[in-house]
Amino acid sequence: MGESSVDSLYEQVRGALPPGSGGSAVSEPPVLRLIAPRIRVLALRTPTLPPAAHTNVYLVGPDAGPWMAVDPGSPYPDQEAVLDAALAAAGVSLGLVLLTHHHGDHTGGARALADRWGVPIAAHANTIRRLPKLRIERTLEAGEQVGGWTCVYTPGHADGHLCFEQPGFTIAGDMVAGLGTILIDPSEGDMSVYLASLELLLARPQSMLLPAHGPSIPDGHAKLREYIAHRLMREAKVAAALGASDASLNELVAIAYADTPRMLWPLAERVLLAHLAKLQRDGRAREGSPGRWSTP
Ligand SMILES: [Zn+2]
Repeated sequence: MGESSVDSLYEQVRGALPPGSGGSAVSEPPVLRLIAPRIRVLALRTPTLPPAAHTNVYLVGPDAGPWMAVDPGSPYPDQEAVLDAALAAAGVSLGLVLLTHHHGDHTGGARALADRWGVPIAAHANTIRRLPKLRIERTLEAGEQVGGWTCVYTPGHADGHLCFEQPGFTIAGDMVAGLGTILIDPSEGDMSVYLASLELLLARPQSMLLPAHGPSIPDGHAKLREYIAHRLMREAKVAAALGASDASLNELVAIAYADTPRMLWPLAERVLLAHLAKLQRDGRAREGSPGRWSTP
């Protein structure tokens, strides 16, 4: 918690919102929903990026044996109690806690849950490296099978990001959102890599995407195409905002994110930087002096 710059950006946005906004005031009581016989989901309140106010915990079971919990991100005791009650009501026993990536809204309740059940936590090596204070017992590799799910390595939002895939379903973490937006912050993420991971998911068989925030997305491929198109549209706006003389990030945000509420511009500036880094790599942008950008 609080170790990631993305977590503090989320906090900054929550702090800038008027009281009562951001969803927590209108949250409904958590319910364990059935997606498939052995896939259930529970949305728990977490410190996340508004308008989302919850992170989905996916509970997935093999045909026999203990279940796995993906992204138990809530650090709040009342939400942990809800999760325990839901597990008890479903008659489910837990064998493993899985993490899609290192952000606090995905990991905040992981150790407590793992300790209550006496089970290990598993994540990608890059996630483990970014969480030195969280004991993670098992390293997951790209392509590895865990409890009948395939680990699909999808860096970009975070460099240790994994999706978990079964025929027809992909637990998508923060690759896409059913509610709100996905932040690509250049200190922890990479726009080129994120776009490549979206393409990688698109090249896999069609599936229902199960995001960490918001409802399930039945037509996964359509959503992935929409995300790729949206990022490329923004990239075009950023490229068009660049001129022959140097412009500051402030000036560029005002042009490329003119359609975004001003309150979100500090966040937009981080994403702008991620776009600029990609454009620079593609030979389409140049940082003349620190923080000032132009066409090459
Ligand atoms: Zn995240």
